[in-house]
Amino acid sequence: MANARRALITGITGQDGGHLAEQLLEKGYEVFGLIRGQNNPRREAVVAEFPDVTLIEGDLTDPTSLIRAVETSNPHELYNLAAVSHVGYSFKNPTLTADVTAKGVLNVLEAVRVTGRSETTKVYQASTSEMFGGLDYNRPGAGYNEDSLFHPRSPYGVAKLYGHWIAKNYRESYGMFVSCGILFNHEGERRGVEFVTRKITHAVARIKLGLQPNIELGDLWPKRDWGYAGDFVEGMWRMLQHDVADDFVLATGETHSIEEFLTLAFTEIGIDDWRPYVVQNPAFMRPAEVDILLGDPSKAESVLGWKREVDFPGLVSRMVAHDLRLAELQRTFA
Ligand code: GDP
Repeated sequence: MANARRALITGITGQDGGHLAEQLLEKGYEVFGLIRGQNNPRREAVVAEFPDVTLIEGDLTDPTSLIRAVETSNPHELYNLAAVSHVGYSFKNPTLTADVTAKGVLNVLEAVRVTGRSETTKVYQASTSEMFGGLDYNRPGAGYNEDSLFHPRSPYGVAKLYGHWIAKNYRESYGMFVSCGILFNHEGERRGVEFVTRKITHAVARIKLGLQPNIELGDLWPKRDWGYAGDFVEGMWRMLQHDVADDFVLATGETHSIEEFLTLAFTEIGIDDWRPYVVQNPAFMRPAEVDILLGDPSKAESVLGWKREVDFPGLVSRMVAHDLRLAELQRTFA
């Protein structure tokens, strides 16, 4: 491992952290992961899945812990994926969201700068389509691209926008290699059940096996540009291999409603009419909603040669298949 490239991932316990650790290990990287909190319940799962990843304790809100993490790992590439990342949760915890998702980015960049690594450590900042707020008003009907106007509609989106701009500011002010990936929703079998796609596939599998009677959801009409997280993480890596730091939208270029996702998921288990199984619960509706998100990944496709491989039906199908296997295990050990 002496000559291996080193990568530090913040947010190693999250969906993207898992996909990225897997891909970087396959590429021969030495991988370090920042892990937060005393007795973090997710530590065990990371250690079990990735025994070769070196975990470093630290927190995005604690600058000295980040300095120590950067000094310990001395990374060629730093992927800042850690965040309070759930839109609904951010309405309930707006200050925490600002501390972690906004100021945490500054702390990460400062840790690279003050340890004298501005020229040697490339940084990936996880920006998000939630920085936009609906359709691009300047280009009606078209997807958002890197030049679209921002109008975040949640404390999460606002905090991410600070992270996006401070990352660009460090690129411009200090010449640091900091690339921002503006990623549209990306899902998969590692997604948390607090997100609507995984909540649906998890419930659908359990309904199929008789483990639960129905699923409670909020609004079904919002539309999202949903891709597969494994594809998107590959795009992050490509951004840091590019010769200049830049911003890139990663998206599929298609948008689908929650109702469409629901219909496909129930079809996978042989149920054509999902209505008897779905209960609407206002608790899952939001104070402000992003009606529709649609991304235009043309720049990433032409400059980085990136393209998503898993399409929308493929995404639903692999998530349901995974959750059916999980539900079978749950039934066996219940
Ligand atoms: P987001 O796009 O980052 O907010 O990802 P989510 O998966 O959390 O939500 C996607 C969309 O699903 C939003 O428009 C939510 O309002 C909507 N939605 C409807 N019902 C639910 C639900 O029960 N849970 C979640 N998380 N979202 C829901």
